[in-house]
Amino acid sequence: MALATDAAGLEKNILRPSGEKALLIDGKIASEVVLAEVAAETAARAGKKSQPGLAVILVGENPASQVYVRSKSKAAKTVGFHSVQYDLPEATSEDELLKLIDQLNADPKIHGILVQLPLPPAINSTRVLERVSPLKDVDGFHPFNAGLLSIGDLDRALVPCTPAGSLVLLEKAAKALGVSLAGADAVVVGRSNIVGKPMAQLLLSRNATVTVAHSRSRDLPAIVGRADIVVAAVGRPEMVLGEWIKPGAIVIDVGINRVPGEGVDAQGRPKSRLVGDVAFKAALSRAGAITPVPGGVGPMTIAMLMANTLRAAKLASA
Ligand code: NDP
Repeated sequence: MALATDAAGLEKNILRPSGEKALLIDGKIASEVVLAEVAAETAARAGKKSQPGLAVILVGENPASQVYVRSKSKAAKTVGFHSVQYDLPEATSEDELLKLIDQLNADPKIHGILVQLPLPPAINSTRVLERVSPLKDVDGFHPFNAGLLSIGDLDRALVPCTPAGSLVLLEKAAKALGVSLAGADAVVVGRSNIVGKPMAQLLLSRNATVTVAHSRSRDLPAIVGRADIVVAAVGRPEMVLGEWIKPGAIVIDVGINRVPGEGVDAQGRPKSRLVGDVAFKAALSRAGAITPVPGGVGPMTIAMLMANTLRAAKLASA
């Protein structure tokens, strides 16, 4: 199987009680198991095959991007990869960036190249992402990999990390609950190229009956209400209401939205908190299992980036 979903025994401890009907799907534990497996396999390759190598490129000084890039480079070192990070100035030209990608495409020590988005407005992101060799495209954004996923060639496709991680959580939770994905009614709310569409393809690969809803869909409550599996990837705080959820459904909440919290922090700034795209508290009394935000899908994204880099290294040496 092309995704790192074989994490042995993970389904035994991925679910924990919420105090209400729904069980909580623990993405932190799941991500630690995936990272431990990647680290073990990387260690087992040592001396025999090349060490997986990940290059992370950041252009400019977007503070959120700096945090993401640091955690990706750190995770790569922790699992034993060769890890390089390029911090390029905001004024970097598209040509300079393309030249660096060409160098990394040709570098046998590098198996995965990640260009952190968003890029400065003067740089054409599509041109840059399409310059990354599809074999090193560990974000899974290249049209070649999107094409492999859409024809169901999961043995060769590098799949975008967030939907890949969502599928791991979903499969493990379903297994623990004794639910089969084959034949299940699955609804993905959101159709972006990085989450909604690849998620729909992954569910299809598991033989679910898949509906993709979006901003023009009519009667979203009824569409969601039919689903045994709901994946919310909208970017609107708590938009999917608890009462829409079919009793017993498995809910994967991909959304990460910052909303005002209560009170002020130590510096006197208004506090904020993270919520998902699903009204979590209300959903707890209906869903069979649900991912919390934070602590659900979020931690899986970096773990799957490492799993993808290891896969790219394995495919390169196959
Ligand atoms: P996009 O903004 O690219 O896509 C949002 C999708 O939601 C669009 O397809 C849009 O429809 C649809 N949508 C918007 N409003 C509605 C509505 N009222 N009813 C139904 N559908 C609607 O977002 P992303 O896919 O990039 O991200 C989605 C969420 O996932 C965000 O909260 C983001 O922060 C989070 N995320 C989390 C990650 C993680 O690591 N956990 C990684 C990536 C994203 P239309 O196409 O018609 O406009």
